[in-house]
Amino acid sequence: MAFCHEHALERMSRFWASFLNTFHRNTEHGHFHKETLTSDFRKMMSSGPLTPLNVLRRVFGYNAFRGQQAAIIDHLLTGGDALVLMPTGGGKSLCYQIPAMIRPGVGVVVSPLIALMHDQVQALRQWGVKAVYLNSSLSSDQARQVENRLLAGDLDLIYVAPERLLTERFLGLLARLQPAPAFFAIDEAHCVSQWGHDFRPEYVQLAVLHERFPKIPRIALTATADGPTRREIIARLKLEEAQQFIGGFDRPNLRYRVVPKENGRRQLVEFVEQEHQGEAGIVYCLSRKKVDETAAYLQTRGWEALPYHAGMTAAARTTNQDRFLREEGVVMVATIAFGMGIDKPNVRFVAHLDLPKSLEAYYQETGRAGRDGLPADAWLAYGLGDVVLLRRILAESEADEEHKRVEQHKLEAMLGYCETTVCRRRVLLTYFGEERDGSCGNCDTCLEPVRTWDGTVAAQKALSCVYRTGNRFGAAHLVDVLRGRDTERVLRFGHNRVSTYGIGKDLEEGQWRSIYRQLVATGLLAVDVEGHGGLQLTPASRPVLRGEVPVRLRVDPQSRRSVADMGMASGTTPNRAVRTFNNPADQALWDALKTRRRELADEQGVPAYVIFHDTTLLAMLEQRPVNLTEMATLFGVGARKLESYGHAFLDVLDAHAERYGRPERPPPRVLPSAPSVNETAEMTLSLLLQGQTPEAIAAHRNLKISTIYGHLARAIEHGELTVTEAINLESAELVAIEDAFRALPSDSPYTLKPVFEVLGGRYEYGILRCVRAGMGQAKNRE
Ligand code: ADP
Ligand code: ZN
Repeated sequence: MAFCHEHALERMSRFWASFLNTFHRNTEHGHFHKETLTSDFRKMMSSGPLTPLNVLRRVFGYNAFRGQQAAIIDHLLTGGDALVLMPTGGGKSLCYQIPAMIRPGVGVVVSPLIALMHDQVQALRQWGVKAVYLNSSLSSDQARQVENRLLAGDLDLIYVAPERLLTERFLGLLARLQPAPAFFAIDEAHCVSQWGHDFRPEYVQLAVLHERFPKIPRIALTATADGPTRREIIARLKLEEAQQFIGGFDRPNLRYRVVPKENGRRQLVEFVEQEHQGEAGIVYCLSRKKVDETAAYLQTRGWEALPYHAGMTAAARTTNQDRFLREEGVVMVATIAFGMGIDKPNVRFVAHLDLPKSLEAYYQETGRAGRDGLPADAWLAYGLGDVVLLRRILAESEADEEHKRVEQHKLEAMLGYCETTVCRRRVLLTYFGEERDGSCGNCDTCLEPVRTWDGTVAAQKALSCVYRTGNRFGAAHLVDVLRGRDTERVLRFGHNRVSTYGIGKDLEEGQWRSIYRQLVATGLLAVDVEGHGGLQLTPASRPVLRGEVPVRLRVDPQSRRSVADMGMASGTTPNRAVRTFNNPADQALWDALKTRRRELADEQGVPAYVIFHDTTLLAMLEQRPVNLTEMATLFGVGARKLESYGHAFLDVLDAHAERYGRPERPPPRVLPSAPSVNETAEMTLSLLLQGQTPEAIAAHRNLKISTIYGHLARAIEHGELTVTEAINLESAELVAIEDAFRALPSDSPYTLKPVFEVLGGRYEYGILRCVRAGMGQAKNRE
């Protein structure tokens, strides 16, 4: 490998040495009353080589890499440039945080969000990472201290605002560092794009990093980049040579649903009060005014709702953002100005009261829900008014023709998503270039398949009503005419005398509105944006009117039914992250764990999730660790957190056990929603690492043993596991199997069947598959 291993090792051992020091101090003071764990701790620190996987496990307490994380980290470690596209919550930060701990030199992270750097750095320190930030919020004394630590080589990571990074002073400082910086990470890289709403002029100048430090690898990361934006990032940051990592875009724990808008605010209240009472969420609105009004209204209903938009003072925005991050159950009502860089893990829903302008924006915004991997909702209320408004904004935009065309295209894709009758996840992933088929089982169209009907005649009536009334009225009036209502307007314009008056009494008002919405969304009607937003026929309307083209329409679901009911109807669970427990003892323990977390967080003035995520508390509840060794195996318990908080939570568990007794150890938790291939493999891996045999895992998870071996083989292929960790074989047996593979004729190298037969069927296919995977890995390393 190209990076200096020795140096890295030295750094790493310094890290652990400081760790062990603190540890010994604590033991002397009798903090670790449970057992003398010194030797275990030592073992944990010193066993195994300094690999990304070991850092992931020991520092962060996670079992396996997700998606392309491992490949990205390796690429950066070997000095390559990278452009990383991953959805929000996909796990981008670890892609540079882990190299920062392995590669010599400090990792420099450029981040546009001064207000959030502090939080990010605090969270990293909880893991035991030496991180600092440098931006205009520091006094000159504080800034000098940071610079001194930088020069002393005492840092793993430094977060810096772009304007600060670009000063001659700071660039000069970087040039003097020995060793040179490990890498430059450019977070939120789409900020270089002039056409995005996150544009930051300083970002454009970041190309200077490449000119001044051509040998230092760079990694640019973003969650939003369609083709044009991606090209802009590459060109402006001079990343032509960078390897692109385009991550799996799926977020399986998010449940997507779109409801036809009637009274958006009322529908929102119903949805949240039924399904997310008291939980954190974000409500997006298009305008500042609507943000203020909605927040005020929700407050009158007793919600902790706070507004956020660019029209507020910076101080007021920061206050609200802080409350959202630190308190539980705050609902932020915001314009798109809110959300970039917010990494609160337990946002349980993102609701849109207005239609976003593109699927990119929608995906980025909804991605802020459920970063902790627990179930979360992406809810959107959408109606004809949204389409009209957005078409209008587009028409009035000052962008040049080409950009208008691009935006038009994006709006159409957004509308297509809203009106789709197939799986919404499929529509989203296909849009982002990931082919998918089948149903996901976790979106409204999958949970309650959309019925369609032959709407040809209805469409003809609706279109001809537009024509008869002169191509200038909105849907509300047109529906009145069709339904034969004698409103003041109908009478004033004499529309009670046109031939379409009263021909639509067979359908209800809501159905006609839905028909008009679908006609506009599919381009069978246009919006007169120069006039008052009236509806007009388009060239596509004529063949429909002439009866040459049939029209199929979707039946909108009835709005009063919640998706929770839907889920019940089709036999799936409602979309709740575990919050309430049937068993009072469990509820008491959950509350006690949360209270302890709150106290620890308050002592340090950090958000509760910085101590442990809900996922980790849940693991405590389900696994009931009785000592630090067991605690260390839980998801999200890294070495430093174990040291800082392990005993505090063991105390809570002990106190609870005294009162309620210890339940039998339940089997390890299986995620509630149907997991993706990736997740299910990860689950197998994590159970294996908790010491279970493949057979036990298969029994627990009610899967075939061959499936489990498939997961393990995959993990071995990805270098996440060695063969001997995966299966229990004598080394002589292992060698025999490997030899059998090598002995195969070269035209059928590494096929399973002949090896199975040669070995007399003694080893099942799954085992052979794992051994073969291990041989591939060994080859890769050569
Ligand atoms: P992004 O920056 O892509 O939006 P983050 O880096 O904030 O996402 O990661 C989202 C969450 O997932 C974080 O809580 C992070 O700690 C967690 N995470 C990242 N990688 C892993 C992993 N391999 N295993 C478990 N959790 C992970
Ligand atoms: Zn679906």
